[in-house]
Amino acid sequence: MRLLIVEDEIKVSQFLQKGFEEELFSVDTAQDGEQGLFLAMTESYDVIILDLMLPKMNGVEVLKELRKEKSTPVLVLTAKGQLESKVEVLNIGADDYLTKPFALAECIARVRSLLRRAQMDKPSNVLGADTLELDQIQHIVKRGGTVIDLTVKEFKLLEYLLRNKNTVLTRSAIIEHIWEITFDTGTNVLDVYMTRLRKKVDDDFDVKLIHTIRGVGYILKDEEE
Ligand code: CA
Repeated sequence: MRLLIVEDEIKVSQFLQKGFEEELFSVDTAQDGEQGLFLAMTESYDVIILDLMLPKMNGVEVLKELRKEKSTPVLVLTAKGQLESKVEVLNIGADDYLTKPFALAECIARVRSLLRRAQMDKPSNVLGADTLELDQIQHIVKRGGTVIDLTVKEFKLLEYLLRNKNTVLTRSAIIEHIWEITFDTGTNVLDVYMTRLRKKVDDDFDVKLIHTIRGVGYILKDEEE
């Protein structure tokens, strides 16, 4: 995780940098608003800690400029009485605030909570079940951390099963979706593909994900009934 600290009080800045580095963040620091804004705009940070009282350009001005282009989560540091309410904080474009003096543990907890929130807002590209992961953008499939090679059709089939995890899919629904045609459902093409896919995905693992529902179709499930 990359963190930017914009704070002119060297002692506070160093104390935060040390604390977050111990939490395995990579930390950059800026001592004034201009430098802070420059770094925030040109680099890519997961979160920014921004003091409001800064030389050259204050925190509110930095936020105003930053928000024209970026939605990086920002935790502002304020002096007592500087901000009247949480509403005011949100109005200036910050995501949360801490009043000085504060405990390091509190600051770390707030930053982690901002990161979690940002993560939840992101659309997930990775589908998963048990130890199986399928990356819809990079087209990588892994089980237990090991990459599994799939053909294009096998990949589409697994993606469809994962998107409908824990739901029974009929043979005709799968065939229509994967082959984009309705052919005789008496055909065994689907079964041939399913057998190959199960071999690659389930054979080496105790937890079997793909199951046949006799006379109906298939289900990929990671829940016990
Ligand atoms: Ca300051």
